[in-house]
Amino acid sequence: MSIMTPHIRQMCLCYFAITLTLTEAISLQLNQPKVLLVSFDGFRWDYIHRVPMPRFKYVMENGIHVNRVTNIFITKTYPNHYTLVTGLYAENHGIVANKMYDQDLNKTFSMDGMDIFDPVWWDEAYPLWVTNQIQGHKSGAVMWPGTDVQIHGMYPTHYMIYNISVPFEDRVTQLIDWFRGKEPVNFGLLYWEEPDQTGHEFGTDNPFLDKVIADIDLKLGYLVEQLQKAGLWNTINLIVTSDHGMTLCSRDRIIELDLYIDRDLYTWIDFTPVSAILPKEGKYYEIYHALVNAHPNMTVYKKEDIPDHFRYKHNKRIQPIIAVADEGWTINQNKTTGKFNLGDHGYDNTINSMQPLLIAHGPAFKKNFTKEIMDIVDVYPLICHILGIVPMSNNGTLNNVRELLVDGKMIATESSVVDIVSQGEINTRGSYAWLGILLGSVLVVCFLIVFVQQVTKSQMSGLNIHQGEMSQPLLSR
Ligand SMILES: [Zn+2]
Repeated sequence: MSIMTPHIRQMCLCYFAITLTLTEAISLQLNQPKVLLVSFDGFRWDYIHRVPMPRFKYVMENGIHVNRVTNIFITKTYPNHYTLVTGLYAENHGIVANKMYDQDLNKTFSMDGMDIFDPVWWDEAYPLWVTNQIQGHKSGAVMWPGTDVQIHGMYPTHYMIYNISVPFEDRVTQLIDWFRGKEPVNFGLLYWEEPDQTGHEFGTDNPFLDKVIADIDLKLGYLVEQLQKAGLWNTINLIVTSDHGMTLCSRDRIIELDLYIDRDLYTWIDFTPVSAILPKEGKYYEIYHALVNAHPNMTVYKKEDIPDHFRYKHNKRIQPIIAVADEGWTINQNKTTGKFNLGDHGYDNTINSMQPLLIAHGPAFKKNFTKEIMDIVDVYPLICHILGIVPMSNNGTLNNVRELLVDGKMIATESSVVDIVSQGEINTRGSYAWLGILLGSVLVVCFLIVFVQQVTKSQMSGLNIHQGEMSQPLLSR
């Protein structure tokens, strides 16, 4: 027979309800949607067809495959990596090239120097890790461009300073530790330098590139295996993509600026295949007219005439004149000086060879689903949607890529676009989860105090009654 009075039973039910709420809140935090975004630099969309890629195929068959991704102009590394995490075109996020000059700041951005660590270059946008953290979550980044810069006063929760010599396996180990930590990240970024480096050095038709591509397949396999060992494979949403493709160049296809303009009349800000030219004072028209019809494989634009579809006009870091080479052509000052790459990228973003692929696997994604093409700016709203965070203003459209998802409405909180200024005031699922845990904890403690009091009181009360019954005869005596 139960020793509990109806009152205590009622309190126990209440206790279990609170415990369930608390457990749910904790589990919401632990089982929060997770995304790992991986970039293999310079992985052209069709590389998967060059050599057997069983690990890529495994992910594609059990997930989704976007055959080609239309990246942004210019099809260079820094602009496109920043687009992946902001959903913005270069003119909107401010990283307009790998090499830039800002006349207002009188500063130069170059991958060769320390200038890239100056937040002023990056602060025109809020990258995903900053937004994620403002909304109560944690991020972990391995070598992704910009993640070792203090953007809007914030680094990723965890990050590694860029160091090309850190092996892929060590990068993976670090990321997995962050996903499994006491306070796990919900968003991770992983960057690997190949096959870009080999593509530049050896060109796209060299058998050595095939070896490197096959090695990328092994690296993806290693990542999948480690995620499986860590028990993350079925809960993490893995997105593998790249910033651009690669095309074959030739020393027979060099456009020599020295043949048309005097070096003293301009500053050569960025080189090839999109040359950014800053004419010296009073030399603008002279330079423009000398270049505009100079070479049949080079198109020269005044800044204001850059075609709208490039989305590459409205930023002070875009120079007054740009010259765009045709695919496979290199712009240099002359054939004997300056750097020459046998493979290159940076050309018009509508050229197939400039475009990467995207594959993904995880609970958010359909299985064995293929989509022909998507825009790179749509990756950002897609990730925000999966993570359940509110995106910043961006150029992407979630509806364009909803078909990749198991259920486009799988996240209870519909994402909506907010202004940058209101970013600091946003609360989201993550924040509510911790609020729930806090409130739940307070309720449980209160309950336990009341419960113990009630039980004690009840037992005391029972003893009093018993004693009363026993004592009655004595009293009546
Ligand atoms: Zn790149």
